[in-house]
Amino acid sequence: MDPESGLDAVRSVGINGRKIVAISTRPLRGKVEVDSTGLVVAPGFIDLHSHGQTPENYRYKAMDGVTTALELEVGVSPVGEWYAAREGKALINFGASAGHIPARMAVLKDTGDFLPRDAAMNRLATPEEQKAIAASVQKGLDEGALGLGFGLAYTPAATHEEILDLFYLAAKWKRPVFVHVRYGGVVTSGIFESLQEVIGSPAWSRDLCARVGQYVREEKVLSLMDAIRKSSLMPAQRLESMSPQMRQKGRQSGCADSILVVLPEEIPNNRGSVRTLQGFGTWRG
Ligand SMILES: [Zn+2]
Repeated sequence: MDPESGLDAVRSVGINGRKIVAISTRPLRGKVEVDSTGLVVAPGFIDLHSHGQTPENYRYKAMDGVTTALELEVGVSPVGEWYAAREGKALINFGASAGHIPARMAVLKDTGDFLPRDAAMNRLATPEEQKAIAASVQKGLDEGALGLGFGLAYTPAATHEEILDLFYLAAKWKRPVFVHVRYGGVVTSGIFESLQEVIGSPAWSRDLCARVGQYVREEKVLSLMDAIRKSSLMPAQRLESMSPQMRQKGRQSGCADSILVVLPEEIPNNRGSVRTLQGFGTWRG
């Protein structure tokens, strides 16, 4: 199934190295042959909201059909070191935004780990500290970050000005921002103010195979092609302006270097029954 061309038919797919080089109505011969009779072959899924970025998490993601896991919301810092630690070693594609949270934690010397525990959560940044945070985020963009990440709910002491300056930076670089807004539910006071601060865009993510199974098979609100499109082609399209490699992802046609996943036709709503065919790599802006 190819969400870009709409092709939904029985085909043989020829892969050479990391590229799809043939899609044929006739059988193809190869060094390694995978019999996918009765199964669905789709572009690998792209998870835009993936905080787990360890080898164990990557293995878990691969079993969910996810071949690209991106840490865009909280983001990372320093970005260069983060990429270097994974380059050539990661099981699946990875990428990250430059994170306001980790930059603020480093500058304000917060003692927390992934999220702020004290200073970055509770304290206003001085003008010098704000400059240092912005410099660190800008360095992240220099080093290939895919955008800017914010978790404003976790940094309540960050002022609108501190955040707005970074939004201007993102605009200057023509990079998107990925934001966890300040307040949670629709009944929480302050929700309008928090939306005023940012315009959020909800992403389809987390347990992708489970969501596909739920929406396609159980609730019947999406066709399988639409579900695959939302899990592969659409995230790639959203990101392709900042990372040209994305133009080759989420697709099967032409010279796409999409990694393929093979799904049972009756899409499961649990993990572990998905086979991921090949490859790893790095995505960066
Ligand atoms: Zn999150």
